[in-house]
Amino acid sequence: MVKPPPENLCAWCGKFVDEDMEIHAVGARFPHGVDMKDHEGMVIFLGFKGRDEKVPALIPTNDAEAKKHCDLMFMTCSETCFKKLKRTLDKEDDLLDVKKIN
Ligand SMILES: [Zn+2]
Repeated sequence: MVKPPPENLCAWCGKFVDEDMEIHAVGARFPHGVDMKDHEGMVIFLGFKGRDEKVPALIPTNDAEAKKHCDLMFMTCSETCFKKLKRTLDKEDDLLDVKKIN
């Protein structure tokens, strides 16, 4: 189970994601050389091609279960948002190994 970021906002539509709802998370890795140590456990905002708004992403702490799978996680509120976000992420050159995590 993935712990939602404090803001609990869908990374795609910005809707508040209730903890009771099923959370669809997208995990991704940065290419080598990106040090996110200062941001562990925090939410950062990333800009993407073709999107005006910045997208919230959670940086898992080093001891977090999710850290084994990804460097950052995007929460979405639904399968629809998940698919749209994933499609956007797949086009990004700066992110690797975009995949679904639960
Ligand atoms: Zn959404």
